[in-house]
Amino acid sequence: MVEVKVSSSSSDLTRIERIGAHSHIRGLGLDSSLEPRAVSEGMVGQTQARKAAGVIVQMVKEAKIAGRAVLLAGQPGTGKTAIAMGMAKSIGLETPFAMLAGSELFSLEMSKTEALMQAFRKAIGVRIKEETEVIEGEVVEIQIDRPAVSGAASKTGKLSLKTTEMETVYDLGAKMIEALGKDKVQSGDVIAIDKASGKITKLGRSFSRSRDYDAMGPQTKFVQCPDGELQKRKEVVHCVTLHEIDVINSRTQGFLALFTGDTGEIRAEVREQIDTKVAEWREEGKAEIIPGVLFIDEVHMLDIECFSFLNRALENDMAPILVVATNRGITTIRGTNYKSPHGIPIDFLDRLLIISTQPYTEDDIRKILDIRCQEQDVDISDDAKVLLTKIGVETSLRYAINLITSAALACQKRKGKVVEMEDVSRVYELFWDVKRSTQYLIEYQSQYMFNEAGEEDDSNM
Ligand code: ATP
Repeated sequence: MVEVKVSSSSSDLTRIERIGAHSHIRGLGLDSSLEPRAVSEGMVGQTQARKAAGVIVQMVKEAKIAGRAVLLAGQPGTGKTAIAMGMAKSIGLETPFAMLAGSELFSLEMSKTEALMQAFRKAIGVRIKEETEVIEGEVVEIQIDRPAVSGAASKTGKLSLKTTEMETVYDLGAKMIEALGKDKVQSGDVIAIDKASGKITKLGRSFSRSRDYDAMGPQTKFVQCPDGELQKRKEVVHCVTLHEIDVINSRTQGFLALFTGDTGEIRAEVREQIDTKVAEWREEGKAEIIPGVLFIDEVHMLDIECFSFLNRALENDMAPILVVATNRGITTIRGTNYKSPHGIPIDFLDRLLIISTQPYTEDDIRKILDIRCQEQDVDISDDAKVLLTKIGVETSLRYAINLITSAALACQKRKGKVVEMEDVSRVYELFWDVKRSTQYLIEYQSQYMFNEAGEEDDSNM
């Protein structure tokens, strides 16, 4: 059995966020009793779905259940991904949230089931408790060296713990002065030294023994630790995912692969060893499993093999909560000739709690567009906002959101400060929505290659 290495370094990484499609989403916008607020944390409308998602988040936070699966189903642009993002934001930093799009599973580098397995293990957290030894002691004496020629006195420190440890103790004394600052250490200070990291911290003052070193003149003084308080045990907690432990233990470059993402396939034996080790830690009370959330968007892209993998993976007692989303109706299950609702096999569908998203009202669209303008720092006139909302209602919310950036550019080009109706109309003419593009295709279909309009296309791709 190899020694299983863990590292918390990857969870310390700061994520850089750009203004993405969902960067305005900061949570699910629910109050403490899980009731959705009309507009909150960047979320608008879709109250039923947000409330249901809130219940799932609550279940995840309580970590009472494993292996549940949820389906977010609804028409394109009705906020399924936005709701999943809201869940991720409200779930808490310690609980892992992994996401991938169904199409990402089809890569040449690894098999579909390996990619799914890695995604599953990215969504399972391990909370490892480590005990470190801490030496705690009280500074009773400090050595002050007066230089022969006049000048500032220098101050060094000595720790007296046990005579046999005198050497180490000497170094620690000097380090202590260095770490805390010359003028910050006085006799009577109570300090702690973490044996593993060497980190020195000042815990406070012991008034019974405190004496002002300056008043004592140049003489040799020592730092002593009160008996019985020489060593204490302190708990340090690391949160990592099972996938991070897998990667660190599976390759020579170890955790660097976590940054490059070039993890390759991980051997089954490595995972077995890690699972055994983690099970041991759990029994010894050293580790806790935190089932997180795995979100798979475009779940209709999965094929029958993937679905049977998911069915089995959800049986595991460490399984995360699986949230899947699709905008498809009744369509072919990939890898078969059978049709099924959302392209999902009935047995898998039967496991799912289904949350459905509804089309937006005009008012919702106006509010979402408003939030997006603020998010992108775009000043827009009321008239232009009305026009943009009308476009959103008649075409799609996504198209209207996309026009914000281009309208702002058009405004900039004419050296304007506020986006006006003319900017919105201009970009509306420049960039077509799906309806106009389809209309054009119908009109000019004969001039395109491989035109099959009129024939039934059943591929759903
Ligand atoms: P698809 O089925 O095409 O993947 P979707 O249902 O996942 O669509 P999203 O991508 O979530 O739709 O929504 C489209 C855009 O509208 C995104 O920028 C999203 O952040 C925003 N949006 C959708 N619903 C809401 C909402 N309720 N509140 C705020 N923003 C929203």
